[in-house]
Amino acid sequence: MGKFPEADARIAQVNVCRKCKTRNTRGVEKCRKCGSAYLRPKRREIRAKK
Ligand SMILES: [Zn+2]
Repeated sequence: MGKFPEADARIAQVNVCRKCKTRNTRGVEKCRKCGSAYLRPKRREIRAKK
């Protein structure tokens, strides 16, 4: 979990293109930048640096 709950909720609604790593809003079927259909949901938990 991050520092801000609001930010966590928003991050969870984001898809990331596997090809160019562009962030896309959830629900889109293709990347807005490269048109690739290879999208993955952004990871909910981001590991902090030790
Ligand atoms: Zn892309």
